[in-house]
Amino acid sequence: MVGAMAEGTTKQVHDRPEISVRPDDLRARGPAEHREKTFELKDVAVSYGDSPAVKNVTMDIYRNNITALIGPSGCGKSTLLRCLNRMNDLIPSARVEGQLLYHGADLYGPKVDPVQVRKLIGMVFQKPNPFPKSIYDNIAFGPRTLGMKGDMDEIVEKALRRAALWDEAKDRLSDNAYGMSGGQQQRLCIARAIAIDPDVVLMDEPCSALDPVSTYKIEDLMLELKERYSIVIVTHNMQQAARVSDMTAFLTVEMTSDEKNRWGQVVEYDDTDKIFTNPSDSRTEDYVSGRVG
Ligand code: ADP
Repeated sequence: MVGAMAEGTTKQVHDRPEISVRPDDLRARGPAEHREKTFELKDVAVSYGDSPAVKNVTMDIYRNNITALIGPSGCGKSTLLRCLNRMNDLIPSARVEGQLLYHGADLYGPKVDPVQVRKLIGMVFQKPNPFPKSIYDNIAFGPRTLGMKGDMDEIVEKALRRAALWDEAKDRLSDNAYGMSGGQQQRLCIARAIAIDPDVVLMDEPCSALDPVSTYKIEDLMLELKERYSIVIVTHNMQQAARVSDMTAFLTVEMTSDEKNRWGQVVEYDDTDKIFTNPSDSRTEDYVSGRVG
């Protein structure tokens, strides 16, 4: 499944550092070279069978930042996102090559358990996908399955509060989650993802099925959550990337001159302000200004 990944690192992926709330921590805000790295991608490539989906990706993703992946459909944003918690392992034809470090440890190392990885690096999908269970059980499911210690009522309340859903949910915890609005269901899915106390939350177009009010609520929530977690988001919505993210990677689809082979590639990766106001590459400028979509 995995190609040439770095070997020889002894640090275990589950030996993650303590995560604390540090709202004014300059390491998350200052110049990129001073920020703490959550992921380091070095020449990462993903293919499905013989078809490359994304190639030559070299970028660092920083702790307590929101990192946005933008670009036209099919440029490999979701594929790249799924590399970060080994979700591509679940697609039999997918092959990941290159080096992908997580807090300095090889995420694809031979001793790394992908299930453990997905506990630390949670995911929220495009369509809210609550379980057909009560609101309470949606949140309690993960902690129970993992045998997390502590008062379950407290765990559920904490996750719902962090997902800005407690006030709306506290009087209906035993109601089926399907009775919630789409925006509430998506916040429930975020609450479910954070209930198991992850380090990173990956979000694959989390607002594309939501109305503008629900979208703003999720965006506000992301800004709160980044104080505690690192967030990587795929979004089609450039305003959203500009509003919420600290760093933005712009990807495009490259192709051979005979157009037989296509693959996604990162054109430019930088501070979000720079990408949207003064990009270095004319392709980025054309895309963010709406000239090319
Ligand atoms: P984006 O998120 O930017 O729209 P994707 O990562 O979904 O791009 O897709 C990148 C490329 O990989 C596309 O050519 C797509 O058809 C292909 N692809 C994505 N998922 C699969 C899969 N499960 N099997 C085969 N090809 C896939």
